[in-house]
Amino acid sequence: MNLLEVTDLSVAYGAIEAVRSVSFTVAEGQIVCLIGANGAGKTTTLRTISGLLRPRAGDIRFQGKSIAKMPAHEILNRGIAHSPEGRRVFARMTVEENLLLGAYTRTDSAGISADVRRVCELFPVLGERRHQKAGLFSGGEQQMLAIGRAMMSRPKLLMLDEPSMGLSPIMTQLIFDTIRELQSQGTTILLVEQNALAALALSDHGYVVDLGSTTLDGPGHELLADERVQAAYLGQT
Ligand code: ATP
Repeated sequence: MNLLEVTDLSVAYGAIEAVRSVSFTVAEGQIVCLIGANGAGKTTTLRTISGLLRPRAGDIRFQGKSIAKMPAHEILNRGIAHSPEGRRVFARMTVEENLLLGAYTRTDSAGISADVRRVCELFPVLGERRHQKAGLFSGGEQQMLAIGRAMMSRPKLLMLDEPSMGLSPIMTQLIFDTIRELQSQGTTILLVEQNALAALALSDHGYVVDLGSTTLDGPGHELLADERVQAAYLGQT
Protein backbone atom coordinates (compact mmCIF):
# COMPACT_ATOMS: atom_id res chain seq x y z
CA MET A 1 0.00 0.00 0.00
CA ASN A 2 1.20 3.51 -0.77
CA LEU A 3 1.56 5.61 2.34
CA LEU A 4 2.35 8.78 0.39
CA GLU A 5 1.38 9.76 -3.15
CA VAL A 6 2.65 12.98 -4.68
CA THR A 7 1.06 13.75 -8.01
CA ASP A 8 2.07 16.47 -10.47
CA LEU A 9 3.22 18.71 -7.64
CA SER A 10 4.24 22.26 -8.54
CA VAL A 11 5.52 24.81 -6.02
CA ALA A 12 6.72 28.36 -6.59
CA TYR A 13 8.43 31.10 -4.63
CA GLY A 14 6.71 34.08 -6.24
CA ALA A 15 7.72 33.95 -9.89
CA ILE A 16 10.35 31.23 -9.33
CA GLU A 17 8.93 27.81 -10.03
CA ALA A 18 11.05 25.53 -7.85
CA VAL A 19 9.07 22.31 -8.36
CA ARG A 20 7.36 21.42 -11.62
CA SER A 21 5.13 18.43 -11.88
CA VAL A 22 6.94 16.18 -9.43
CA SER A 23 5.31 12.77 -8.97
CA PHE A 24 6.37 9.88 -6.75
CA THR A 25 5.02 7.37 -4.29
CA VAL A 26 6.30 5.95 -1.02
CA ALA A 27 5.04 2.48 -0.18
CA GLU A 28 4.53 1.55 3.46
CA GLY A 29 7.68 0.13 5.03
CA GLN A 30 10.03 1.34 2.32
CA ILE A 31 13.00 3.67 2.21
CA VAL A 32 12.55 5.97 -0.80
CA CYS A 33 15.10 8.59 -1.83
CA LEU A 34 14.98 11.70 -3.97
CA ILE A 35 18.36 12.48 -5.47
CA GLY A 36 19.41 15.35 -7.70
CA ALA A 37 21.70 18.33 -8.05
CA ASN A 38 21.74 21.45 -5.90
CA GLY A 39 18.62 23.49 -6.40
CA ALA A 40 16.67 20.69 -8.10
CA GLY A 41 13.69 21.19 -5.80
CA LYS A 42 14.10 18.38 -3.29
CA THR A 43 13.97 20.49 -0.13
CA THR A 44 11.02 22.45 -1.49
CA THR A 45 9.18 19.17 -2.08
CA LEU A 46 9.70 18.04 1.53
CA ARG A 47 8.70 21.43 2.93
CA THR A 48 5.50 21.28 0.90
CA ILE A 49 4.65 17.78 2.13
CA SER A 50 5.13 19.08 5.71
CA GLY A 51 2.67 21.91 5.10
CA LEU A 52 5.29 24.66 5.39
CA LEU A 53 4.72 25.67 1.76
CA ARG A 54 1.56 25.45 -0.33
CA PRO A 55 1.43 23.68 -3.69
CA ARG A 56 0.60 25.78 -6.74
CA ALA A 57 -0.77 22.67 -8.43
CA GLY A 58 -0.99 18.94 -7.90
CA ASP A 59 -1.89 16.80 -4.92
CA ILE A 60 -0.29 15.13 -1.90
CA ARG A 61 -2.12 12.16 -0.43
CA PHE A 62 -1.19 10.49 2.84
CA GLN A 63 -2.94 7.21 3.72
CA GLY A 64 -5.32 7.94 0.87
CA LYS A 65 -6.37 11.44 2.04
CA SER A 66 -5.29 14.74 0.54
CA ILE A 67 -3.08 16.75 2.92
CA ALA A 68 -2.20 19.43 0.36
CA LYS A 69 -4.25 22.11 2.12
CA MET A 70 -3.74 21.04 5.72
CA PRO A 71 -1.84 23.12 8.26
CA ALA A 72 1.58 21.82 9.30
CA HIS A 73 0.54 20.79 12.83
CA GLU A 74 -2.27 18.63 11.47
CA ILE A 75 0.10 16.94 9.03
CA LEU A 76 2.44 16.19 11.95
CA ASN A 77 -0.50 14.83 13.93
CA ARG A 78 -1.36 12.50 11.07
CA GLY A 79 2.11 10.99 11.28
CA ILE A 80 4.58 12.83 9.05
CA ALA A 81 7.75 14.12 10.74
CA HIS A 82 10.47 16.16 9.08
CA SER A 83 14.13 16.41 10.01
CA PRO A 84 15.13 19.55 8.12
CA GLU A 85 18.28 20.33 6.20
CA GLY A 86 21.04 21.83 8.32
CA ARG A 87 20.22 20.06 11.59
CA ARG A 88 18.18 22.80 13.15
CA VAL A 89 18.51 21.83 16.79
CA PHE A 90 17.99 24.30 19.61
CA ALA A 91 21.56 25.09 20.68
CA ARG A 92 20.73 26.45 24.14
CA MET A 93 18.54 23.55 25.08
CA THR A 94 19.78 20.18 26.31
CA VAL A 95 19.56 16.97 24.32
CA GLU A 96 16.61 15.87 26.41
CA GLU A 97 14.77 19.19 25.99
CA ASN A 98 15.27 19.02 22.23
CA LEU A 99 13.88 15.50 22.17
CA LEU A 100 10.87 16.44 24.31
CA LEU A 101 10.04 19.25 21.88
CA GLY A 102 9.69 16.62 19.18
CA ALA A 103 6.94 15.03 21.27
CA TYR A 104 4.95 18.20 21.84
CA THR A 105 1.84 16.83 20.14
CA ARG A 106 1.74 13.85 22.51
CA THR A 107 0.31 13.55 26.01
CA ASP A 108 1.30 9.97 26.93
CA SER A 109 4.15 10.72 29.33
CA ALA A 110 5.14 7.06 29.87
CA GLY A 111 5.35 6.55 26.10
CA ILE A 112 7.36 9.75 25.69
CA SER A 113 9.89 8.64 28.34
CA ALA A 114 10.17 5.24 26.65
CA ASP A 115 10.85 6.94 23.31
CA VAL A 116 13.55 9.20 24.81
CA ARG A 117 15.21 5.98 26.03
CA ARG A 118 14.78 4.41 22.58
CA VAL A 119 16.49 7.37 20.86
CA CYS A 120 19.30 7.26 23.43
CA GLU A 121 19.78 3.53 22.78
CA LEU A 122 19.88 4.12 19.03
CA PHE A 123 22.38 6.96 19.46
CA PRO A 124 24.33 6.18 22.67
CA VAL A 125 26.25 9.48 22.52
CA LEU A 126 22.94 11.31 23.01
CA GLY A 127 22.20 9.18 26.07
CA GLU A 128 25.61 9.84 27.60
CA ARG A 129 25.26 13.60 27.07
CA ARG A 130 21.54 13.85 27.63
CA HIS A 131 21.78 16.87 29.96
CA GLN A 132 24.31 18.85 27.90
CA LYS A 133 23.38 21.75 25.65
CA ALA A 134 22.99 20.77 22.01
CA GLY A 135 25.12 23.73 20.84
CA LEU A 136 28.21 21.97 22.23
CA PHE A 137 27.76 19.00 19.93
CA SER A 138 29.58 18.17 16.69
CA GLY A 139 27.78 18.32 13.35
CA GLY A 140 27.21 14.57 13.29
CA GLU A 141 25.89 14.54 16.84
CA GLN A 142 23.50 17.41 16.06
CA GLN A 143 22.30 15.45 13.04
CA MET A 144 21.58 12.46 15.29
CA LEU A 145 19.65 14.76 17.60
CA ALA A 146 17.63 16.22 14.71
CA ILE A 147 16.69 12.70 13.58
CA GLY A 148 15.94 11.65 17.15
CA ARG A 149 13.72 14.68 17.66
CA ALA A 150 11.75 13.84 14.50
CA MET A 151 11.35 10.26 15.77
CA MET A 152 9.80 11.53 19.01
CA SER A 153 6.43 12.18 17.34
CA ARG A 154 6.34 8.44 16.48
CA PRO A 155 5.87 9.19 12.80
CA LYS A 156 4.51 6.77 10.26
CA LEU A 157 6.59 8.61 7.68
CA LEU A 158 9.94 10.13 8.61
CA MET A 159 11.33 12.64 6.10
CA LEU A 160 15.08 13.28 6.33
CA ASP A 161 16.61 16.17 4.39
CA GLU A 162 20.31 15.66 3.67
CA PRO A 163 21.16 13.69 6.81
CA SER A 164 24.75 13.17 5.59
CA MET A 165 25.47 16.83 4.87
CA GLY A 166 28.87 17.88 6.22
CA LEU A 167 29.53 14.55 7.94
CA SER A 168 32.60 12.33 7.80
CA PRO A 169 32.24 9.01 5.94
CA ILE A 170 32.19 7.13 9.27
CA MET A 171 29.46 9.37 10.70
CA THR A 172 27.49 9.12 7.44
CA GLN A 173 27.67 5.33 7.68
CA LEU A 174 26.38 5.46 11.25
CA ILE A 175 23.44 7.66 10.25
CA PHE A 176 22.61 5.42 7.29
CA ASP A 177 22.81 2.28 9.44
CA THR A 178 20.38 3.94 11.83
CA ILE A 179 17.98 4.76 9.00
CA ARG A 180 17.94 1.07 8.08
CA GLU A 181 17.38 0.17 11.73
CA LEU A 182 14.41 2.56 11.88
CA GLN A 183 12.96 0.91 8.78
CA SER A 184 13.32 -2.50 10.39
CA GLN A 185 11.39 -1.15 13.39
CA GLY A 186 8.50 -0.25 11.07
CA THR A 187 9.08 3.38 10.08
CA THR A 188 8.67 4.37 6.44
CA ILE A 189 11.37 6.78 5.27
CA LEU A 190 11.58 9.48 2.61
CA LEU A 191 15.18 10.58 2.20
CA VAL A 192 16.57 13.55 0.29
CA GLU A 193 20.27 13.25 -0.45
CA GLN A 194 23.05 14.69 -2.54
CA ASN A 195 25.14 11.66 -1.58
CA ALA A 196 23.48 9.65 -4.35
CA LEU A 197 25.69 6.60 -3.99
CA ALA A 198 24.95 6.05 -0.30
CA ALA A 199 21.26 6.95 -0.67
CA LEU A 200 20.59 4.60 -3.59
CA ALA A 201 22.48 1.77 -1.92
CA LEU A 202 20.15 2.12 1.06
CA SER A 203 16.85 2.73 -0.71
CA ASP A 204 14.17 0.37 -1.94
CA HIS A 205 13.26 2.90 -4.60
CA GLY A 206 14.82 6.11 -5.86
CA TYR A 207 13.70 9.09 -7.91
CA VAL A 208 15.94 11.52 -9.76
CA VAL A 209 14.78 15.14 -9.47
CA ASP A 210 16.16 17.42 -12.16
CA LEU A 211 15.24 21.09 -12.60
CA GLY A 212 12.13 20.69 -10.51
CA SER A 213 10.80 17.51 -12.13
CA THR A 214 11.09 13.78 -11.48
CA THR A 215 12.89 12.43 -14.53
CA LEU A 216 13.84 8.85 -13.74
CA ASP A 217 12.98 6.28 -11.10
CA GLY A 218 13.59 2.68 -10.18
CA PRO A 219 14.77 0.35 -7.44
CA GLY A 220 17.87 1.80 -5.74
CA HIS A 221 20.23 -0.88 -7.06
CA GLU A 222 18.96 -0.40 -10.64
CA LEU A 223 19.48 3.37 -10.53
CA LEU A 224 22.97 2.78 -9.16
CA ALA A 225 23.73 0.75 -12.29
CA ASP A 226 22.05 3.23 -14.68
CA GLU A 227 24.55 4.96 -16.98
CA ARG A 228 22.65 8.26 -16.89
CA VAL A 229 22.66 8.30 -13.09
CA GLN A 230 26.32 7.30 -12.98
CA ALA A 231 27.30 10.06 -15.38
CA ALA A 232 25.26 12.79 -13.70
CA TYR A 233 25.37 11.97 -10.00
CA LEU A 234 27.99 9.37 -9.24
CA GLY A 235 30.92 11.05 -10.98
CA GLN A 236 31.44 8.19 -13.41
CA THR A 237 31.36 8.19 -17.21
P1 ATP B 1 19.75 21.75 -2.22
O1 ATP B 1 20.20 20.37 -2.16
O2 ATP B 1 20.80 22.73 -2.67
O3 ATP B 1 19.02 22.21 -0.99
P2 ATP B 1 17.23 21.27 -3.49
O4 ATP B 1 17.10 20.23 -4.56
O5 ATP B 1 16.78 20.87 -2.14
O6 ATP B 1 18.71 21.79 -3.43
P3 ATP B 1 15.53 23.58 -3.25
O7 ATP B 1 16.23 24.05 -2.01
O8 ATP B 1 14.19 22.99 -3.12
O9 ATP B 1 16.45 22.53 -4.03
O10 ATP B 1 15.49 24.79 -4.29
C1 ATP B 1 14.81 24.71 -5.54
C2 ATP B 1 14.87 26.05 -6.23
O11 ATP B 1 14.09 27.01 -5.50
C3 ATP B 1 16.27 26.65 -6.34
O12 ATP B 1 16.37 27.30 -7.58
C4 ATP B 1 16.31 27.64 -5.20
O13 ATP B 1 17.21 28.70 -5.48
C5 ATP B 1 14.88 28.13 -5.14
N1 ATP B 1 14.50 28.53 -3.78
C6 ATP B 1 14.59 27.76 -2.65
N2 ATP B 1 14.13 28.43 -1.56
C7 ATP B 1 13.74 29.64 -2.01
C8 ATP B 1 13.17 30.82 -1.40
N3 ATP B 1 12.88 30.83 -0.08
N4 ATP B 1 12.91 31.89 -2.18
C9 ATP B 1 13.17 31.86 -3.50
N5 ATP B 1 13.70 30.80 -4.15
C10 ATP B 1 13.98 29.73 -3.43
